[in-house]
Amino acid sequence: MDVSTYLAEGGTDIYCDLLVPRRVPVEVVFESPTIIAFWHSRPTHEYHFVVAPKRHVADIRSPDTDAIWADVLSALKAVLDLIPVTAAGGRVITNCGRFQQSKHLHFHVVGGRQLSS
Ligand SMILES: [Zn+2]
Repeated sequence: MDVSTYLAEGGTDIYCDLLVPRRVPVEVVFESPTIIAFWHSRPTHEYHFVVAPKRHVADIRSPDTDAIWADVLSALKAVLDLIPVTAAGGRVITNCGRFQQSKHLHFHVVGGRQLSS
């Protein structure tokens, strides 16, 4: 199954269903026993990565985040380091509630120029 089909069929957790088990191709840039990070398949910026826990955590408000915060922060720092200094910095974004399309905690790490859509 591809991502478009998954979303069209109402899938709500692309991480547990497709990305973490690698049922679709992902270009991994960082991986630890608990965290995976990869290039976003539909980037909004020149550098656009996604960082997510491998096990299910609903969103940043979940009590389940307590056990993985140190791992998340290490991963975010490692992924931010992939953005070259010439890109003049990066941003870390996470969504919850109505702003969160996929109901699995994830962080967008972006940098460089914004891409037109
Ligand atoms: Zn999940």
